[in-house]
Amino acid sequence: MGRAILQLIEHHISELAKIGFDSSSGGFNRIAYTKEETLAHQYIEEAAASMGFASHRDFAANLYVFPHDMCDKDIVLIGSHLDTVPNGGNYDGVAGVVAGLEAMRVLVADSYDDIALAVWRGEESSRFGMAYLGSSLALGIYGNEQVAVKDKDRISLSDAVAACVHNPDARIMHQALNQEMISCYLEAHIEQARSLESKGIPIGIVTGIRAPVRYMVEVVGRYDHSGATPMGLRIDANRVAANILAQAYRFADKLVGDDRDIVFTSGIIHSDSGSESINKVSGYCKFSVDIRSNEICERDFFEDKLLEIIRTEGEKTGAEINARLLSRSDPIPSLDHSLHQGIERACNELGVSCHYMPSGAGHDAAVLAKAGIPTGLIFIPCLNGRSHCPEEYASPEHVAIAADVLAQTIRNI
Ligand SMILES: [Zn+2]
Repeated sequence: MGRAILQLIEHHISELAKIGFDSSSGGFNRIAYTKEETLAHQYIEEAAASMGFASHRDFAANLYVFPHDMCDKDIVLIGSHLDTVPNGGNYDGVAGVVAGLEAMRVLVADSYDDIALAVWRGEESSRFGMAYLGSSLALGIYGNEQVAVKDKDRISLSDAVAACVHNPDARIMHQALNQEMISCYLEAHIEQARSLESKGIPIGIVTGIRAPVRYMVEVVGRYDHSGATPMGLRIDANRVAANILAQAYRFADKLVGDDRDIVFTSGIIHSDSGSESINKVSGYCKFSVDIRSNEICERDFFEDKLLEIIRTEGEKTGAEINARLLSRSDPIPSLDHSLHQGIERACNELGVSCHYMPSGAGHDAAVLAKAGIPTGLIFIPCLNGRSHCPEEYASPEHVAIAADVLAQTIRNI
């Protein structure tokens, strides 16, 4: 890797860091389909133009960069996103776009033309409660039902998209991403966990991508006096919720101890703020659950166990418990095997150590893989595993190594 590439990567990252930066929190706000996200896309478009590349946008306002003009033959597509969660970091998505752009520059200088960069819109679910908006729209996975979904300000996804498409030309735009012309898809992304950093390994080869099943569980108990009501005569909603969660977390720990792929999270716990009191037995508690695994069967196994725990607790305590399914998306148990090998070979040729690992978080790569496009995903270490927060950081050196690995992998395809 040359010093010049490293400087270019540093330059892109610092230019993008000027967009959506909140000096009071130190975080970034480039929310899906907002002006800030558009400005970030414009930066990449201008950077690409300065390299002599051609850019196109599609009807979903995704940006595609081609070496010359649009190709109609088998291309290797590299991609990632530039939007952030509220008060997020400047590396989630950015690292992959910047690595992809610089990989493309190196390849085009070697007369390799069958390549394009996709900068997807709206990867994060923060605004519309749905993730991978741009890539899912481009591939026809999202349609009328999804574009009607509104954000908290009652703006629909279709209106938000329309506000960001400054030269709508459906015919050309549709042509910009004809699935038939993509031979394979490669994405680089920060790991968003600390496995690579703790092992001192610069490249992760992602084997599969987890996807969540999510529930909101409501427990209805009975409000009673906290001093006067004997322990045995209570229907304590908070206690029931605590029992359910304690059993679920213990079960998750046991499975993990047996080397099985499962993560379980309850990110939200609420009682009823209008009725709760320090001197009352709780009559209401609501909590979320998010269950993920690379394997659908492992996830279903855990889900069944959780629902059984909930049923048993309800019967045992007399609490009324309602577990409402919020969403279910399927994991990608295995990304493309020959791309795995290609990435590993590229790492060996470059003298870069690598490590096979699953992805806990979802990525646009999952959308392309589900569409049947051979897909490879590589991970870049991030400082202390922090992500979706202002502390998020990946070193330009690691981003540059990812650019090298992307370029070398594509040379070998
Ligand atoms: Zn991301």
